[in-house]
Amino acid sequence: MRKFLSIAAAVCLLAGCQCRQGSAPAPVVLSKAEPVSVETVFSAEPIPASVEARMRGVSYPDDAEIKLSDLRYLRLSYVDFDGLEQVGELVCNKAIAEDLMAIFQALYEARYPIRSIRLIDDFGGDDEASMAADNTSCFNYRRKTGMRELSKHALGLAVDINPFENPYVRPSRVRPAGASVYADRTKDFPHKIDKEDLCYKLFRARGFSWGGSWRSVQDYQHFEK
Ligand SMILES: [Zn+2]
Repeated sequence: MRKFLSIAAAVCLLAGCQCRQGSAPAPVVLSKAEPVSVETVFSAEPIPASVEARMRGVSYPDDAEIKLSDLRYLRLSYVDFDGLEQVGELVCNKAIAEDLMAIFQALYEARYPIRSIRLIDDFGGDDEASMAADNTSCFNYRRKTGMRELSKHALGLAVDINPFENPYVRPSRVRPAGASVYADRTKDFPHKIDKEDLCYKLFRARGFSWGGSWRSVQDYQHFEK
């Protein structure tokens, strides 16, 4: 296993990424399946050409005011809602790449469940579709909901976590559609982000603000810097 890690580290060095190879994961023994062992990785690198091709004209329009060189492509191990180890993809501003690697590594080590971590481009850049799929994401060059002002997501400085259970709530509307049942935060339910939640504590400790604390609307999935 040590040999595998050193090879993985060498590959990352060659690729020029700021890589944090975590300790090798213990096999996850499932009740109905064979033990599985997957790569554990927390890495950040400049946007690879293959990822740029996915982003152009989708999350990254030609007239975007942020340079592609200011963004980073992250690969992040996480534990999904079934307790299975997965590796997700996320694009963020280079200014918060280190923060996100550390936060997601801490979430992984605590086995904090995350439904999925895929690029918004896999959903055609459609925030509603990504939220409806309960997908965790960061960069998307878009305006604030219902406004002309750019969202912090357009700068890659905001992250949405488990958005279906942690919706965007206005008095008149809950997004995504179908998530109204999770708008009542006095109720207790799995995957709820509140001030006792590990996700909340990790993001706040690194200087992010939480959309759940906003006054006029509440965006329980949203952390920004
Ligand atoms: Zn958000």
